Amino acid sequence: MSLSSTDLIHHPYTPPEGFDAPQPAVHKASTVYFKDVAAMRARDWRSKAGYTYGLHGTPTTFLLEERLAALEGGTECLLVPSGLAAISLVSFALLKRGDEVLIPDNAYGPNKALATGELANFGITHRLYDAMNPQDLHDKLSERTRLVWLEAPGSVTMEFPDLIALVAACRARGVTTALDNTWGAGLAFDPFAAAGVDISVHALTKYPSGGGDVLMGSVVTRDEALHLKLKLCHMRMGWGVGANDAESVLRSLPSLPLRYVAHDRSARELARWFEGREEIVQVLHPALEDSPGHAHWRALCGPQDLAAGLFSVVFDARFGIEAVDRFCDGLGLFKLGYSWGGPVSLVVPYDIGLMRDASVSRWPHKGTLVRFSIGLEAVQDLRADLAQALEGMHAEPA
Ligand SMILES: *Cc1c(COP(=O)(O)O)cnc(C)c1O
Repeated sequence: MSLSSTDLIHHPYTPPEGFDAPQPAVHKASTVYFKDVAAMRARDWRSKAGYTYGLHGTPTTFLLEERLAALEGGTECLLVPSGLAAISLVSFALLKRGDEVLIPDNAYGPNKALATGELANFGITHRLYDAMNPQDLHDKLSERTRLVWLEAPGSVTMEFPDLIALVAACRARGVTTALDNTWGAGLAFDPFAAAGVDISVHALTKYPSGGGDVLMGSVVTRDEALHLKLKLCHMRMGWGVGANDAESVLRSLPSLPLRYVAHDRSARELARWFEGREEIVQVLHPALEDSPGHAHWRALCGPQDLAAGLFSVVFDARFGIEAVDRFCDGLGLFKLGYSWGGPVSLVVPYDIGLMRDASVSRWPHKGTLVRFSIGLEAVQDLRADLAQALEGMHAEPA
């Protein structure tokens, strides 16, 4: 290749006014015919042997479902319009008035927002638990607990929990477990065979899409009865996905393992580089020995030695919010934007004090946290970009 991957990914492209996204635009179809009335009447929603209506699946979406179920070591899969829709499908399908759901306090924020919003409106209560303390989960499981959410590692703060111990506590009480497996992507560990969860949800928006241009989610299970419960809710809600988007994910899946390894390798290299920087008091990356939950990561993901392309750093508290904003604004290759898993590296500063319910687990740091999603650019270019932005942070603002 004559271009470096950095140049290829950052190749000039003039987006339409007011719109900028990682990928250039893609330009590209509801009725399904039955051969007679008898076939129409005989159609069974549970079976994938035929088709009913575009919303309930097409050959394209069924194919993607099959491949994703295989990727995660499950048997059944449902596609939904986003990763967040995968979370809401599970909660709406399994919870009813009077039930309680337990959510880790370091979980993906919108999962908690759904619980405080719609779930609360429907008479469903929730409690946050300390994902790093299985005893806390154990103590919070009650007669009303119908669902426990798990995430490994926690969004943004990257602590890796003892998933096996958390799942065991739920199993002992017969409570259904749902893992947000977006980070592991079906590659870092097997959510069913190794972690033992009942449901794995995945934001396909991230690594499976790999382009920053598709929103989609999946809900994978190994249990037919559980799958049908989810599928019935899926049908009633009308949460189908478009065939064009499904095709995009299908096109990206073959390179998923290669991309995942590449993201991982660069992220680890840059995370280690940050460990040597005096501006940083903590690097949060589960494969680093000093990162919270490293031993749990090693136990679950060690055999594959995989850890995705995400990490966070905590700045020394002497760097105020203005300085850290200056660092983020000073980056060139790293773009400011949510989500992750695409070719372009991304950066987001977070106020963990605001995100973390202090009554559950104490966040030990005072400085600002910055989360990086490492893309597929050449790692030396990313390192140079980070270094120059750190230097720029030290300079007094003009
Ligand atoms: C991005 C993300 C989601 C939601 O995915 P969307 O497709 O953006 O709705 C859910 N969980 C985790 C851990 C994520 O990072």
